[in-house]
Amino acid sequence: MGASVDDAELVDRFPWVQVTHDNKHLFRGWLDRKLLIDRCDDCGRFHHPPKPICPECWSSRITPTEVSGRGTIHLAMALHQGAPAPGVDYAKGPHPVVAVDLEEQPGVRFSSTVVGCDPSEVEIGLPVELDWVERYGSPFPVFRLREGAKRGGKG
Ligand SMILES: [Zn+2]
Repeated sequence: MGASVDDAELVDRFPWVQVTHDNKHLFRGWLDRKLLIDRCDDCGRFHHPPKPICPECWSSRITPTEVSGRGTIHLAMALHQGAPAPGVDYAKGPHPVVAVDLEEQPGVRFSSTVVGCDPSEVEIGLPVELDWVERYGSPFPVFRLREGAKRGGKG
């Protein structure tokens, strides 16, 4: 589906992000519920956010590559205010935002929110997996704590 969407329609589907030549494949992937991270054809390293040139070896041969979306919370924040978005209600409490170290390559991080748990359960070091919600009618990637990650949920 994502591949058949032209640039103008892509911009329409994601009105709250800035779609550019460098990142448009990322959002095409979202339409297919795939998280595509740029990977260098020459050195094999992933990098994110998208850049036209590999930051490791300066190659311009970059292929958006689907990743599992599994990883570990590297940074966690609780936003008390911010831009309005569907499913985000600051009146109900802080909105968690995390940067996740993707398991494909530590140091390559993708930022989003965490769903399906209380914001107080979101802690650095916990394992998470990718999930998808709808935002303005388009798929939006989010994270969910992995089985056994919740406090007291082990054993
Ligand atoms: Zn490279």
